Amino acid sequence: MGRFIPLSIPNFEGNERKYVDNAIDQGWVSTGGAYITKLEQMMAEYLHVDNVAACQSGTAGLHLALISCGVEPGDMVIVPTLTFIAAVNPVKYQFATPVFMDCDDSLCMNPVKLRKFCEQECRIEDGKLVHSASGKIVKAVVVVHVFGNLADMEAIMKIAEEFHLKVIEDATEALGSRYTEGVFAGKYAGTIGDYGAYSFNGNKIITTGGGGAITAREPKEVDHIRYLSTQAKDDPHFYIHDEVGYNYRMTNIQAALGVAQMEKLPEFVERKHRNYDLYKELFSGLEHGKLLGFREGTYSNQWFYSLELDMNYLKRSLRDIILELQEQGIQTRAIWGLIHEQKPYRDEIAYEMEKAPYYSSCILNFPCSTQITEEEIKIVADAIKNVLA
Ligand SMILES: *Cc1c(COP(=O)(O)O)cnc(C)c1O
Repeated sequence: MGRFIPLSIPNFEGNERKYVDNAIDQGWVSTGGAYITKLEQMMAEYLHVDNVAACQSGTAGLHLALISCGVEPGDMVIVPTLTFIAAVNPVKYQFATPVFMDCDDSLCMNPVKLRKFCEQECRIEDGKLVHSASGKIVKAVVVVHVFGNLADMEAIMKIAEEFHLKVIEDATEALGSRYTEGVFAGKYAGTIGDYGAYSFNGNKIITTGGGGAITAREPKEVDHIRYLSTQAKDDPHFYIHDEVGYNYRMTNIQAALGVAQMEKLPEFVERKHRNYDLYKELFSGLEHGKLLGFREGTYSNQWFYSLELDMNYLKRSLRDIILELQEQGIQTRAIWGLIHEQKPYRDEIAYEMEKAPYYSSCILNFPCSTQITEEEIKIVADAIKNVLA
């Protein structure tokens, strides 16, 4: 077996083993324990917010955020079509209806189309946004910061305010990304809207194996989400439950990993930048491909790197390019299939799709692990140049 350069793998160079051993030694392995609280505090401090609730996954966090927004059966929620499907599935868990929105050149939600949909397809009635054709109430919008690149939050927050929409930021890929300029200067992804969800899945910038976290503008809402995530238990000694709860709490073993990973997060972000800068240098003058950048006026965590390929000029299909690189021991992938084209979602509204189908057909993601070496980056860049030539 020759060399293999994976797309994105976890990095456990820190205190992970020590803290997990510690959790096991103390017997605190389940949904109680000091590492959970510690991780919540570390995240709150890092993100400059008052309250963070750790949970089982980013998906669970997004589900609880929708519940907290009051999304009920029959409501509508605006979602992106170019995203990982976990950003959308929780809408269905609430028996609500997704409306799919196009992206712009940042790969994130297109605010111009979002406004147009609210203005032309909806009306405001008793302080609520109502979809004219169906009569459904549009309660919320889920905004994904794709690959760690911040969405245009300035535009989106204005629209949300004007049209009475709750904003759930899916910051599962964007822990550490922040605005450096404009009205949100200093604000981190996930702390601008009403709710922000994070993920610690295996390929994210930090990982707990599986896990996530949620924050909200109102600290009380985070308390309520934590309560819902622990079976909505109302009495410390007796089994009294005033609401339907969920088993969505993070475990102490996961949190032990998480605390060690949070200690490394600033360094991971730096490494992502260093590696991106080297790729940028190596890909300058690349034929038939362009390395995508990150939004101006922001400092991104640069979690994933993307090449926009000029498919019209390439002799090979995207699938063949991926397979050929795989044969050389280099793992790459295409961006996601559009969610409105997936079987469970084909009957839903997909609003003026144009950019998302384009980007879905021509984006290539390539190795970006924090521990990738300079030599490996050069090998990857050479291989990609050759395959595109
Ligand atoms: C990873 C991811 C999620 C889900 O997070 P999990 O922790 O895997 O449940 C949701 N949305 C997006 C955009 C993601 O990339």
